[in-house]
Amino acid sequence: MSALQPQLPELPEALDQLAAACDGCRRCGLAASRTHVVVSRGNPRARLMVIGEGPGAQEDEQGQPFVGRSGQLLDRMLESVGIDSNRDAYVCNIVKCRPPENRKPTALEMAACRPWLDQQIQLVDPGVILLAGATAVEGLLGIKGGITKLRGQWRQWEGRWLMPIFHPSYLLRNASRERGSPKWLTWQDLQDVQRRLAQLAAPL
Ligand code: SF4
Repeated sequence: MSALQPQLPELPEALDQLAAACDGCRRCGLAASRTHVVVSRGNPRARLMVIGEGPGAQEDEQGQPFVGRSGQLLDRMLESVGIDSNRDAYVCNIVKCRPPENRKPTALEMAACRPWLDQQIQLVDPGVILLAGATAVEGLLGIKGGITKLRGQWRQWEGRWLMPIFHPSYLLRNASRERGSPKWLTWQDLQDVQRRLAQLAAPL
C-alpha cells in the first residue's frame, strides 16, 4: 500500500480524540511541511459548520482555522448577520495541514484527509454547512466548477443544507460593496444562511 494511502484511521468517538489523532496524522505528504495540524475552532454544538479549503500561513502558525486576514473578513461578514463564528459555528477545512505556498490541495490530499472531515461532520452534526470557495465544494461533494456559478444555490446533502459562497480571500481582492459585487452577493448568501438557521431552530 502506498505511503499516501494508508488504512483508514479508527473512528474517534469524540472530537478531542479526533484532534489528538489528527495531530499525529501522516496520511498524506502535507504532514512533512506543516507547523501545526489545524483541526477546528468554534462551537462543536453549533448548528452551522464552516468548511474552507485548508490552512494558510497564519493558521499553520497558530493551529487554528480562518484566523488570518480572510478569516477575519469572514468573521466580520458573519457578525453582520448576527453569527459569531466562535459561538454559533464550528469552523474547519477540507485538509488539515497547510499546502506549501498556499497551493490548492491535490485530489489525493483531499481524499486522504476526508475521513477526518467526515468524522467532524458526523460528530458536530450541523444542520447547515457553509462551503467557502470552490475547493471546499469539490472536496466535500466532488463537484468541480467555478464558484461564481455554484455560490448562492442551496444544496441538500445527507440531510443537511449546504450553501457555497465565495472564499473570503477572493473577497479581499474584490473590495467593492456595490450591488452585484462578490462581497454584496456573499452578504446576500449569509443572510440566507441566517434565515435557514432561524428556520431550523424554530419550533415545529
Ligand atoms: S492534510 Fe490531513 S491527511 Fe494529510 S497529513 Fe494532514 S491531517 Fe493527515
